[in-house]
Amino acid sequence: MKRTTHWIDFRSDTVTRPTPAMRQAMFDAEVGDDVWGEDPTVTQLEQTLASMAGKAAGLFLPSGTQSNLVALLTHCGRGDEFIVGDQAHTYKYEGGGAAALGSIQPHPLPMTAIGGPDLQDIEHAIRPDNIHFSRTRLLALENTVHGKVLPLDYMTRAYALCQRHGLQLHLDGARVFNASVALGCSLIDITRNADTVSICLSKGLGTPVGSVLVGSTEFIHTARRWRKVTGGGMRQAGILAAAGLYALEHHVQRLADDHRRARSLAERLLRAGYILEPPQTNMLFVDAGELDRTALSAWLQEHGVKADCLGRDNIRLVTHLDIHDDDIEHAARVFEQFRTRA
Ligand SMILES: *Cc1c(COP(=O)(O)O)cnc(C)c1O
Repeated sequence: MKRTTHWIDFRSDTVTRPTPAMRQAMFDAEVGDDVWGEDPTVTQLEQTLASMAGKAAGLFLPSGTQSNLVALLTHCGRGDEFIVGDQAHTYKYEGGGAAALGSIQPHPLPMTAIGGPDLQDIEHAIRPDNIHFSRTRLLALENTVHGKVLPLDYMTRAYALCQRHGLQLHLDGARVFNASVALGCSLIDITRNADTVSICLSKGLGTPVGSVLVGSTEFIHTARRWRKVTGGGMRQAGILAAAGLYALEHHVQRLADDHRRARSLAERLLRAGYILEPPQTNMLFVDAGELDRTALSAWLQEHGVKADCLGRDNIRLVTHLDIHDDDIEHAARVFEQFRTRA
């Protein structure tokens, strides 16, 4: 069962390569200078995604990190504060960008099992209007968060709380389409509970590059300025936006296949004695507690499977566009045989 021709790469859903049809759409894209607002394909992508999310305007950016950063720079000024879960991407995995580049102070709160801070903790974290305190401007949530879908009810209540206290709500929706497909709801059912949303095209949707930030016309007008300031103004970016438009048409509903494959791999691993929670979307986290990580890593490598086994956390396996049913079958057998190997 040794394979040399084809790696089954579970490290992330960012490893996908554009399909031939997506490449053709990129090849055929009509382009112009987008910094001058003259790229029709970029404009079309921004408007399409904004309207899918029920927002007035959109902004195409090179990455999810930059999209979140631009959102934070637009929502918050120097010395302002945003409330955020302590395991959230915007707090933990973006190099402290909001602080480094915007003098924006994060106010991290512990995340509960559902994937966001407790609503009462959020309410208590909002600072009173007093010269001693920074001004609390924003709540940043994430959906999906580590592969889990934030319950709609939580999002609705969090948004109501923000509105009661005059806060804005930014949703890091890097994988928000995984959430809508898993819930069987429309994107708008989720995004109506946020003022602004950042959506990645280069994760489950399978494009090579890009994220879109959506919000009000006024917000996006200011965000466009911050995108330029942070070096994210791109020229004939329609070549990239075309991949996004293609993905919105062809790669959203198929996320259900990734979720089904993640569930079926999880069932096999559970039966083989691995410890993990059933996945809600396209990510499994295998408890590494009693596993020999080094041996497992070598074993997977030897059998054509890539997974990040050597990190501090549990072993994360992510399904995506380039992982098919027979890859799941192969990987399941590799994991099973690791436990029964001589
Ligand atoms: C990947 C990711 C980002 C950042 O996207 P990049 O394009 O890698 O910069 C932001 N938030 C979440 C939740 C992500 O998974």
